[in-house]
Amino acid sequence: MERETMCIQAGYQPKNGESRMIPIVQSTTFKYDTSEDMGKLFDLEESGYFYTRLANPTNDYVAAKICALEGGSAAVLTSSGQAATFFSVFNIAGAGDHVIASSTIYGGSYNLFAVTMKRMGVEFTFVDPDCSDDELEAAFKPNTKAVFGETIANPALIVFDIERFANAAHAHGVPLIVDNTFATPINCRPIEWGADIVTHSTTKYMDGHDATVGGVIVDSGKFDWMAHADKFPGLTTPDDSYHGVVYAEKFGMGGAYINKIVAQLMRDLGPIPAPMNSYMLNLGLESLHVRMPRHCENAMAVAQFLEKHEKVAWVNYPGLASNKYYERAQKYMPDGTCGVVSFGVKGGRSAAEKFMKGLKVAMIATHVADAHTCVLHPASATHRQMNDEELLAAGVSPDLVRLSVGIENVNDIIADLENALAEV
Ligand code: PLP
Repeated sequence: MERETMCIQAGYQPKNGESRMIPIVQSTTFKYDTSEDMGKLFDLEESGYFYTRLANPTNDYVAAKICALEGGSAAVLTSSGQAATFFSVFNIAGAGDHVIASSTIYGGSYNLFAVTMKRMGVEFTFVDPDCSDDELEAAFKPNTKAVFGETIANPALIVFDIERFANAAHAHGVPLIVDNTFATPINCRPIEWGADIVTHSTTKYMDGHDATVGGVIVDSGKFDWMAHADKFPGLTTPDDSYHGVVYAEKFGMGGAYINKIVAQLMRDLGPIPAPMNSYMLNLGLESLHVRMPRHCENAMAVAQFLEKHEKVAWVNYPGLASNKYYERAQKYMPDGTCGVVSFGVKGGRSAAEKFMKGLKVAMIATHVADAHTCVLHPASATHRQMNDEELLAAGVSPDLVRLSVGIENVNDIIADLENALAEV
């Protein structure tokens, strides 16, 4: 199947007389005729459902669709992108372990790693995604368990060199985890470039309609845990909390990582999505391949308009030929990057504030990556407690406007920007 067909059909093939849309199995539990039947499920001897915190058919249909889109071997949905990021790392790194992450990842991921997971005993080294080979090499330690990056960083829009980081990770016997939220598998499939595990905040383009918060983790099935058995005892030695199962032996390279997440982390921590939310996510996925090209087309037109505008100081969009990451974006995402553009309004913080007041089509929201065009001026919203010096230190200039270009008519979006800029 091509990606367009997968968006519609992968993950669920109805049998004769069954519902054409995925069924919403809104049930906490599943009934069995005998205790023996149920015992086999608990022993992981047979696959099936017994409690929705562990697994649910609606969730599994949608996970299977995203798995196919990313070219993975197994996948699991989570109740948010944050939960997906957390599980993707915590599944293979615990207290006493070390992880390398790109320094320009989404702020929520940065906090999760630098504050919360640090408190759990996991040490992180943040490297500039454009660091030299020597700097990257120096970041690895004997207890390093994974490398983490983001295909297109939110909000810096830095394009991650997936192949380079995958090679470095593999040379040290650890997997590369890539958050592919902004690119989506329509524009980039990190597994094809060497990534071992892919995560998403499905809240963004996958849902695409501002309707449901969610996440997903996809395993490529290509990382050989047993070849690095000492590094990953959680996968290669018996899990005492689950009848001594050795995930890498029982499920092989294709299933070990995701089965451990389900059997252990979902069981103990529980961030499973509601089946109804997964149904809605599936509706979004059915048009992902139609929406992404439109997002990119509109964003490109907007970026080109802004680049020529006299009141705009700078524009950051990796699809622009003038962008620092243009060549890299062409390599990894030749069909387009994403719909998010950032730019500076000449005149700094107060000019940006004036500009925001003049917008009518673009809605002020902290969200990005959905059908509606939305806009945020971090200096007067998410980062308003900071003065100009503090903002610059945080990598957010006072004039920065983050624009998530939607799929409305692009002429309306550009006219809105033009009118608002005229008021500055
Ligand atoms: N990853 C990226 C790139 C994001 O942009 C976000 C949210 O903005 C997340 C992860 C976290 O996802 P969620 O908000 O669904 O928890």
